[in-house]
Amino acid sequence: MRGYRAAVAFDGTHRLPGGALVLVENSTIIGVEPVTAPVPDRCVVVDHPALLPGLIDSHVHLCGDSSPRALEQFAELSAERVQDIIDTAEQQHLRAGVTAVRDLGDLEWAVVDRPRAAIGPTIVAAGPPITSPGGHCWAMGGEVAGIEALRRAVRERAERGADVVKIMASGGVLTPGTDVLACQFSLEEMRAVVEEAHALGLPVTAHAHGLAAVRRSMDAGVDGIEHGSCLTTDGPQLSTEVAVGLATAGTYVCPTLGEVPGVDPPPHIQARLLEVGADLDRHREHAAAMQRAGVTLTAGTDAGIGPSKRHGLVPMAVADLVAFGMPATEALAAATSTAARACGLQARTGRLAIGLDADLLLLDSDPLIDVTALQRPRAVVSRGREIPL
Ligand SMILES: [Zn+2]
Repeated sequence: MRGYRAAVAFDGTHRLPGGALVLVENSTIIGVEPVTAPVPDRCVVVDHPALLPGLIDSHVHLCGDSSPRALEQFAELSAERVQDIIDTAEQQHLRAGVTAVRDLGDLEWAVVDRPRAAIGPTIVAAGPPITSPGGHCWAMGGEVAGIEALRRAVRERAERGADVVKIMASGGVLTPGTDVLACQFSLEEMRAVVEEAHALGLPVTAHAHGLAAVRRSMDAGVDGIEHGSCLTTDGPQLSTEVAVGLATAGTYVCPTLGEVPGVDPPPHIQARLLEVGADLDRHREHAAAMQRAGVTLTAGTDAGIGPSKRHGLVPMAVADLVAFGMPATEALAAATSTAARACGLQARTGRLAIGLDADLLLLDSDPLIDVTALQRPRAVVSRGREIPL
């Protein structure tokens, strides 16, 4: 048995007054005690200034190597190279304190089919996102047309072991020839996907940039929305109807924040962003407006899709949330307990609680006071094992 003790502790939802002593046996948390609690016999205790659950990135692409052509190169990658990219991505997440990720678009099932390792971040995965023929991220292998084929595609995902269904409700910036403002599927088609997935016990999360696609995803009853940019020809427009609808339904919206400081997207991507009025500052303001309207945000990053989106960026995404006014406890929850619920991992990780995986992040100072402390992990524990930093 080992113990991790800190005078500052955040348990995934709130600060534990006076800190905590977290007891770990093998891969599991077996105790969350006050710091003054007696140490059990033969238990080695490590002290750090601050302690919280390992972070969760609710939107990653483990097959993306964060190069300028990370997604464009998919058609050229060998299966072996894809596994190397995933290995590297996992290590980058772990070293940043990210102990669980949700992959929302792999290449031809590479992440879903990958044997789950005893060490490494916990992974939930969507497989290839469902998209229209030639639609956003078609190169991942998930093109589908027509209601019956959409239902079959959902059943295929359940049969192959996907944990979540990802559907591209609008075009995307990174796929030339798609329209970020337009919807890729009709409301009936979206509803069929949600109905089929829910009948099989799978949640659905929808990539949606345009306001029309966000509204349609909401009307179809999806569980989550990725980006949620609400773009119109005049830039982001958060309609009251959409804000209230998302807040009331408790839909998880991942605004895919977090950037490598000082690294801009490649020029061809910047040009496309500008074309559709999707500059980052306006997107951040829009995310802040959603938060003020009571929408539940998660701190996913879209890791892997380019140089400004390397793996392990959740600390930056949390810093973004705090910068635009989200209370620090909520911002940390967005990367721990809230993200765990969004990813269906609440029974495994995201909180300091007995019976959950021993996924821990140890820091040099209080992240609720200075959120940049998340960027300086002192130790990371993934399912009970300390990760060499
Ligand atoms: Zn993505």
